[in-house]
Amino acid sequence: MKADLLNDPVFGMAAEQFDRVADFLELDEQVRERCKWPKRLITVSLPVTMDDGRTEVFFGHRVQHHLSRGPVKGGLRFHPSVNIGEVAALAMWMNWKCALMGLPFGGGKGGITCDPRTMSPREQERLTRRFAQEISQFIGPEVDVMAPDVGTTSQHMAWILDTYSTREGRFVPEVITGKPVQLQGSEGRTQATGHGVAFLAARALNKLGIPISKATAVVQGFGNVGSYAVSTMTDYGMKVQGVSDITGAIWNDDGIDPKALREHVAKTGGVAGFPDADAIDPDALLLQKCDVLVPAALERVITKDNAPKLKCRILAEAANGPTTPEADTIIENRGDIFLLPDILCNAGGVTVSYFEWVQNLQRFSWDKKEVLSKLETKLNEAFERLLSFTKKKKCSHRLGALALGVDTVANVKKTRGLFP
Ligand code: NAD
Repeated sequence: MKADLLNDPVFGMAAEQFDRVADFLELDEQVRERCKWPKRLITVSLPVTMDDGRTEVFFGHRVQHHLSRGPVKGGLRFHPSVNIGEVAALAMWMNWKCALMGLPFGGGKGGITCDPRTMSPREQERLTRRFAQEISQFIGPEVDVMAPDVGTTSQHMAWILDTYSTREGRFVPEVITGKPVQLQGSEGRTQATGHGVAFLAARALNKLGIPISKATAVVQGFGNVGSYAVSTMTDYGMKVQGVSDITGAIWNDDGIDPKALREHVAKTGGVAGFPDADAIDPDALLLQKCDVLVPAALERVITKDNAPKLKCRILAEAANGPTTPEADTIIENRGDIFLLPDILCNAGGVTVSYFEWVQNLQRFSWDKKEVLSKLETKLNEAFERLLSFTKKKKCSHRLGALALGVDTVANVKKTRGLFP
């Protein structure tokens, strides 16, 4: 199993990062091994009746990296490239993220290998409910709390909540986060990750002495995270000149209007063909001169090939694992890019998910202003903690963020003993 995981390129990358951090922290061998490997890897087969009457069998995965600090928390992804190694890597990163942010959770992640773009809403509902049914004995408010990720939305969370609650015979909103507000979802959850990315980009601009009103940005991905990052950065007065998604990339020197782009995407299914911008090669988009570059789509898009050619001042990693280890070394050696590492940059989502869980457990709700203000306080604390740690230890932002997370988990494991 260890070799299978290490052979997966995404898990291999997460493990390589972990080993670097463990060396840096001088973790002893016992704790190092316990921190590295996932506690539970669960794979279920999911027979689903398709609209044409066929039965198709999908595979769904859930990885609970560790349960030493509380229930695991993490998204559920629908994408054709989902596999157990990728899910395990994403679960490991969630650990360090929750610990860095001071949230009482371990890391989890799930995914179903499917292409939601080719499936009808009814097929997606049947698949989601089947997954919820198969996985329900392994999840729960004190064990594993899922949330949306690539290819899933609040509607998918509502189906999971309904399936789980029906099985339990009572309404259990605290089993899932990122659900619709009318099912006790949190105000502000939908925009939380993108809002957090924009907030931290603004804090980084401030540290670099770049006026926010003069700053430019490029965003790869216009889904949940990318679209709200674009809206919030635009609200702050920044000019978002380039945006891409799976359908193509667009550019406008004067900035792209997020509201008009959102309407275009709702109508056509993608950013390609947006009338108020020119088409641009998606690979070239990442290399345009800008103050803030936001990869907000998938993993491993900043590579050893494009890292030397980046012309951004800040790399705000909204996606999970967008930078390969080779690219990371190049960026570190260049020294001219302020990195906002993924486990901090996109932590807005899990932080508001935590707020949602707390509100559900208390049967209480906060308004959007309160949620976003509490989110900004938490993000700012983690940002400042990271900057003072990296200054003191003379290390990169990536290493510093991971080290703060790993150290917290390792200390809990040491204190509790061998079992957790
Ligand atoms: P999403 O499915 O809503 O959006 C993904 C976007 O990426 C879409 O616009 C899609 O068209 C685009 N995309 C896919 N392949 C692409 C390609 N090859 N080139 C350019 N664009 C491409 O997903 P999301 O929830 O916005 O998540 C995006 C990233 O952020 C993922 O890495 C996810 O793990 C991470 N993340 C999400 C959250 C959250 O709250 N949703 C929280 C933390 C991290």
